[in-house]
Order: sequence, then C-alpha cells, then structure tokens
Amino acid sequence: MIEFDNPLASLTHSISGSHILYLYEDVQHYVDSAAAYAMTCLNQGHQILIIDNDYCIKAIERKLAESWIDEKLEYVHFVDNFDFYQRHGEFQGCLTRRHFEAIMQPFLNDRLSIRTWAHVQWKPQPHIQAKLEEFEVMADCSVKEQNLISVCAYDANEISASLQLSLMRSHEYVMTDREFIASGLYRNSNAERRISPSMSLQEKLLLEQKQLLIDKEAAERANQAKNEFIATMNHEIRTPMNGVLGMADLLAETELDEDQAIYVEVIRHSGASLLQIVNDILDFSKIESDRQVMLEEPLRIRECVAEVVDLLQVPRLDKNLEIDVTVDEEVPDMLMGDANLIRQILLNLLGNGIKFTERGRIGVSVSLLPGSDGKNRKRLQFRIQDSGIGIPRAHWRKVFQPFYQVDKGLSRQAQGTGMGLAISKKLVERMNGQIGIESSAEAGTTIVFTVELDETFSRLPHEEQPGEALS
Ligand code: ATP
Ligand code: MG
Repeated sequence: MIEFDNPLASLTHSISGSHILYLYEDVQHYVDSAAAYAMTCLNQGHQILIIDNDYCIKAIERKLAESWIDEKLEYVHFVDNFDFYQRHGEFQGCLTRRHFEAIMQPFLNDRLSIRTWAHVQWKPQPHIQAKLEEFEVMADCSVKEQNLISVCAYDANEISASLQLSLMRSHEYVMTDREFIASGLYRNSNAERRISPSMSLQEKLLLEQKQLLIDKEAAERANQAKNEFIATMNHEIRTPMNGVLGMADLLAETELDEDQAIYVEVIRHSGASLLQIVNDILDFSKIESDRQVMLEEPLRIRECVAEVVDLLQVPRLDKNLEIDVTVDEEVPDMLMGDANLIRQILLNLLGNGIKFTERGRIGVSVSLLPGSDGKNRKRLQFRIQDSGIGIPRAHWRKVFQPFYQVDKGLSRQAQGTGMGLAISKKLVERMNGQIGIESSAEAGTTIVFTVELDETFSRLPHEEQPGEALS
C-alpha cells in the first residue's frame, strides 16, 4: 500500500478548499493512490465520493476491501461516470462541470464532510488539449467556491507534457505515481526551493522537444533534397527540350505540305509551353532554396513599371484594355535593389490582370508607406487593379500556392501553369514585403504588395555619393 507523505494527510484534513491534480501513468498506481487517498480521508472522519469508470471503481473497491474494515466502506460513495463520457463524445467543459456538480450536490446539501476524487476522461477528439485546459480553470473555481477538497485525475500518457505543465501551474498540489508536490512553487518563481517536476515528466518534455527538432530537421532535409532534385530534373529536361524546339524551328523552315506545317506548329507550341512550365518550376525552387541572388544596384521604379507595361503591349491591345499608371510624387526616383525581381513580380501581376479581364482598365499605382525601420529604408506599396472576373474569397489564400488555379475545368480559357502568384509571393518576401488580394466578381481584382528598398545614397560606393562625386 502506498503511504502518502504528510502533506496529503494535512491537506485532506484542511478546512480550506483545495484542488489537487493527479497525473497518473500507470493504472495500478492510480488504483493504489485512490485507495490511499480514500483511507486517509476515512481515517480523518470524512466521507469520500469517487467518480470513476466501472473498471476502476471495482479495482478501488477491491483494494479498500483488502485492507479496510468493512463497516467504514459505507462512507465511500462511488458514481460510475463512464456513461457520461460515452454519451457526450465531444468533451465540453461546461457540460462536464455541471455533471460533476450535480453528482456532488446531494452530499453538499446534507452538509457532509466529504472529500472527492474525480477521474477525467474523454474520447479522442480535436482540440482536446485546449478544452481540458479550459475545463480545469472552471473546475478550479468550482472546487474553491464550494470549499471542497478534491482530486482531479488525468491519464498523463494522454496529454502532452506542455499541457501537464500548464495544469500543474494552475493547481496548488500535484500528485504523480511517485511524488506528491506543492505545485504552487511552479507559479512562484521567487520561491527559495523550487521543486522540479517528476523525472518522467521531464523526460517526456525532453522527448517532445527532441521530437520537434527531429521533425524540423527531417522537413528541412526533405525540402533541400526536393529542391536539388527539381533543379537537376529541370536541367535534364531543358537540355533535350531545347534540342526538340531547335529542330522543330529548323523543320518549320523546310518545304512542308499543309498538314506537316500544322504538326510542326503543334510541336513548337507544346514545346514552348513545356519549357515555360519547367522554367517556372526552376524559378520557384531557386527562390525557395534561397539560391536566387538578389542584386543591390540602383533601380528606377518608374522605369521598371513603364518597361513592364511596354512588354505587355501586345496582349493589352488584343483586348483593347487601358493601363493607367500612377507613381506618387514622394516615391524616390532612384532606390537600391534588384530591378529584375520587381519587373518579374509586376509582369506576373499585370499579366494576370490582362489575362483575366475582358473589358475595362488595369490600374498600377505605387506609393510610399510610412514606418520603415531604418531611416534610409523605404517601404513601397504597389496596387495592381483590374476590372476582370475576380477571385472568389475562398481562393484568396490558395492562389499563392504553386500550380493552383481557380477554375481548372475545360471551360477555362486562360493559359498558364499557376506559378505566377506563387513565385511573386516568394519574391516579395525576399524583399521583406507582403502580398494580398482584394477581389470580387463585380469590382474585379486588386493585388497589393509591399517591398522594402534602400535609398540610393546609403549604399552607393563612397566616391559616388552625391556632392562628393563632384569635388
Ligand atoms: P502562370 O502565372 O503560371 O502563367 P496562372 O496565371 O494561372 O499561370 P497565377 O498567376 O499563379 O497562375 O494565378 C493563379 C490563379 O489565380 C489563376 O489561374 C487565376 O485562376 C487566379 N487569378 C490570378 N490573378 C487573377 C486576376 N487578376 N483575376 C482573376 N483571377 C486571377
Ligand atoms: Mg499568372
């Protein structure tokens, strides 16, 4: 029979309410502890209410019968709780609390000197940790309000070490299979003597932390391997693809009958699409693995925007769309950064605008945002607005994933592989920025993104600094 340290005896005999947490790992220990607790209480002249499942109740009863004189057993009350958990599969803190209170009420009404022992159980379900945490706060209030002395028992194997620690902080006393400790010390970091949690809990915490590290490492390695694989594959595909395309070009220049000319055209067209896909994947994996070099050279935002608009002249005129460009006056003429990356983002976004708009206009505006950190750091905001088909809200996040397209059906007219936004997001993030969508079928789509760039004079080589260059 387990003998508890004195603290338990003084606790069960105390006059103020107390909520004791019991984290058991072994059912046999659990049964021993319950019996020991019951006997301590009975010895002190209290009655005891044990709320548990049928199996544990039988085991505790047997244990008590073994070592106790039968007549005292009438002061031990058992309530089989298992049905309750069976019926309410979904753990609900309020419901469970009311259930326990209803069980205890008759004893409290009779003003019996009663001690309680409650075994908390649940079926596997989502968010159980948060639910238990919430429940414990309520149970704690309840116990204190009623001035009860109550043990709340949990199977420690079923809850994470972090939840165990959190429960321990909210209870004054903690029992484990091996120890009984005053957990108030956990809360009070200034306490002279801090008792450390039981070894098994420390081990569990360490294990969980180790596992997290292992998972993280594995994920990083897998990602690295994936990127290397993609880079190699891309190279292996691109080399023969260029052969196919080059030969198709040469073939197209030879004498061909009408059918043959069509076949060659199909080869050239399909080859070009395939090459585009391969390039997109390569771009993406390059950015993802941080192998993309980012230049720090003078860049003129106004020129960047104008160049991209020029590049898109053909598809824009095909659809007779207008493009309005406004760059706020405060936006500096020259900044430091990688013009290619900015162009690539704008090309993707403006390209989408034109692709998904049949009539109306596309707007591009650039403005300066306040609140950059360093004084030479400028934060720019770009808005690309179209009057096209819009993106339903449910897809706003998803369109930034590689290969995601809103409507992949046969009815889809637009070309593309679904990489443009994924690449743009990565590029924006490389420049410490963010990208987001506002869109509706009526108003069209607006994509907003920010980037951080240095102001020119902070990074120019010494002799090129304004003013000094002249002297
Ligand atoms: P790619 O850019 O690789 O050529 P894509 O344009 O289909 O192909 P993304 O640019 O990543 O790929 O866009 C993903 C999807 O988001 C598009 O297929 C489209 O369904 C939706 N989308 C993007 N921009 C717009 C827009 N301006 N208006 C309406 N839908 C858009
Ligand atoms: Mg696109």
